[in-house]
Amino acid sequence: MQQMRKAPRLPAMQCPHCTAPAVARTSRAVTALYREIHYQCSDVECGHTFAASLSVMRTISPSAKPNPGIDLPLSVRRKPEHLANNEQP
Ligand SMILES: [Zn+2]
Repeated sequence: MQQMRKAPRLPAMQCPHCTAPAVARTSRAVTALYREIHYQCSDVECGHTFAASLSVMRTISPSAKPNPGIDLPLSVRRKPEHLANNEQP
């Protein structure tokens, strides 16, 4: 099993049980598109530790250095509000 390292800057989470802030303790890249993060509740009376996941879902703007091994769907862009009102029936 791969050694888990100290997590650098990871998304903030709340403990799902007591809603206190949870602190990311470790994370590891499972694949290029998926990361597992272990969190610990900051409330010592709760003491919950849990695993969460972070995954890349889609491309918003294509890479200038694409990796042929990465296959992501393109994000569907929404029309700006002022153009949406001028659509033909
Ligand atoms: Zn908690």
